[in-house]
Amino acid sequence: MHELDSHKKRRITGGLRLESHKSQSTERPVKVLPPPGQVVLPVRQHAGEPAEVIVKPGDHVFKGQAIARASSYIGVPVHASISGTIAAVKDMPVPHPSGLTALCVVIEADGRDEWAPNLPDPIADHTNYQPAMLRNRVRECGIVGMGGAAFPTAVKLNPPPPQRIRTLILNGVECEPYITCDDMLMRERANKILEGLKIARYMLENPLCIIGIEDDMPHAIEAMTKALGGRQNDGIRIVDVPKIYPAGGERQLIQFLTGEEVPHDGLPSDIGIMCHNVATAYAVYQAVRHGEPLISRIVTVTGHGIHLPMNVEARMGTAVNEIIEACGGYREDTAGLIMGGPMMGFALHSDGVPLVKSTNCLLSPNRTEFAEPGQTMPCIRCGDCARVCPASLLPQQLYWHAQAKNLDQAQDYNLFACIECGCCAYVCPSNIPLVQYFRFAKSEIWSREQEKQAANVARRRFEFRAMRLEEAKRVRAERLAKKKQALAHASAGDEADRKAVIMASINRVKARKSAAQSQVSKVDSATSVRSTVDNKENPRAVRETIGTADQ
Ligand code: SF4
Ligand code: SF4
Repeated sequence: MHELDSHKKRRITGGLRLESHKSQSTERPVKVLPPPGQVVLPVRQHAGEPAEVIVKPGDHVFKGQAIARASSYIGVPVHASISGTIAAVKDMPVPHPSGLTALCVVIEADGRDEWAPNLPDPIADHTNYQPAMLRNRVRECGIVGMGGAAFPTAVKLNPPPPQRIRTLILNGVECEPYITCDDMLMRERANKILEGLKIARYMLENPLCIIGIEDDMPHAIEAMTKALGGRQNDGIRIVDVPKIYPAGGERQLIQFLTGEEVPHDGLPSDIGIMCHNVATAYAVYQAVRHGEPLISRIVTVTGHGIHLPMNVEARMGTAVNEIIEACGGYREDTAGLIMGGPMMGFALHSDGVPLVKSTNCLLSPNRTEFAEPGQTMPCIRCGDCARVCPASLLPQQLYWHAQAKNLDQAQDYNLFACIECGCCAYVCPSNIPLVQYFRFAKSEIWSREQEKQAANVARRRFEFRAMRLEEAKRVRAERLAKKKQALAHASAGDEADRKAVIMASINRVKARKSAAQSQVSKVDSATSVRSTVDNKENPRAVRETIGTADQ
């Protein structure tokens, strides 16, 4: 077997063969929806820090204009998806399992749908530009992973040295039932996806490229093969991936296509591999070739609870209920709404939430489409969950530790390698909602980590303050000691001066005395004869003479 066909010998670990339910939404072409009258744009539509709002109510904005800028390296800006007026910047309901609100920018349409006049220039030939400049373009156009993770694409396209990407994988394996947005994108816009792939490849210094497409998407495979000019061309090849859920998981796909395993605690780039979704490649193409920010996406609207299941291209921030309306609305027997697929999606609390960059599917089943979950029973240790786990984990053990809140042990069993695919819960005969336990344990560990980090920050702040006070004390003591020393020197100098003055005075007195003495001696010698003659009988006169001489 040729080396390029070596994947044919490989099998996907674990996983399930599920009913696809894809034909419901692939019978009609992608419908491009007109711009809505209002959009609600959450400032956090990506992994990382929320973007920072740079507009205020009353401002006029154009389509494609940035309304919030990236606040950190792991972040992207958010762009107006319609032209109009900023109506509000406030907390609004967003699509999240918690049903909580988050900061959003609300834009009322002006009906003109005008592009911003200062959009980046289109680039006809990306090879005339530095990869760093192109990455910056991708970042400034707000592009994130469109497969669901919403990680900033420019960051992913810039692996830190010494990592070098040897293989770039384009993920066209839409393995979750019901979802068909990537399938339809490949069918209808294959050339543009391929161009986007080539641009991304150029930024990574031309690694080998593999496009993985699920083998039950014949139309997508055909369109992509036609765009490439064959199954293999110019260092790019198309590989069929078996229809097993979750073969499209990043780690599972890498293992199947390359035979290499991403370490549990590592990233694909650690082993020289990178994976991007087909819709991300399309967004890169739009940003580089046309200078267009990410303001719309294709989303699958499906399920027997919808009148006309199909894929639509809608502006970011469009209300989900408007999108459902564009697909004929709900049927009477609708049984709720899920964002994402039936395995990894989450139930929406309301359909008033907006479409965001990571929304790939809106699924509304009818009352008979999904079986009601049975009553939860104790684990019977059948081991079925471990057999289907694509990450080769032991879900049964993870469940015990998560349930008992033995979080360290859960981590020892590689809890964070769980991709929350739901295969284990799907097969569990005891109907144990295993994934919910794993999500709970992960969130507990994250909040514990956050608390630990907060405590560390507080401790470091305290230590720094104590150190600062200690240093200030030391500096003060040093200054005081220097002052004392200076004073001591000064007084020592004064004493020496004083002594010198005294000595000088003593010396002067001594000098005068000695001068007087020599005067007396002269007088004595001059008058010695006379004294002996004239004052022999008058000693007082002699004393007075000496006294005069001494003055
Ligand atoms: S499948 Fe369910 S019952 Fe069977 S071992 Fe796993 S958790 Fe227990
Ligand atoms: S949800 Fe996690 S533990 Fe369960 S099968 Fe998927 S990866 Fe394995």
